[in-house]
Amino acid sequence: MAQKRRLKSKRVGFRRDATFSKCPSCTQFNTLRRSKTRSFMEGAIKNLTWFKVYRCTNCGWRGYKSTFILTIDGVKLIATYLIIALLTGFAVKYVIQRFVK
Ligand SMILES: [Zn+2]
Repeated sequence: MAQKRRLKSKRVGFRRDATFSKCPSCTQFNTLRRSKTRSFMEGAIKNLTWFKVYRCTNCGWRGYKSTFILTIDGVKLIATYLIIALLTGFAVKYVIQRFVK
């Protein structure tokens, strides 16, 4: 059976739970737990962004970790879409200015 080495994802990004990633402080794996938000700002960040508050059960570190990872392909894809959107916008504007008086 041929091994599929080309596992390059074409997705924009993926979400993962930082629970299984390593602690930035003590670099231990599987020690991070979701922490309850303590302030309005933390709640707002949690709800508006992909960052969640985590707490390390090993060293007590507490901070934000992103649960969304943007892939390089994703960045390229977004850039391409933006360029297309801009070009379409200019084209539409041109057509409107030219034909609609
Ligand atoms: Zn830690």
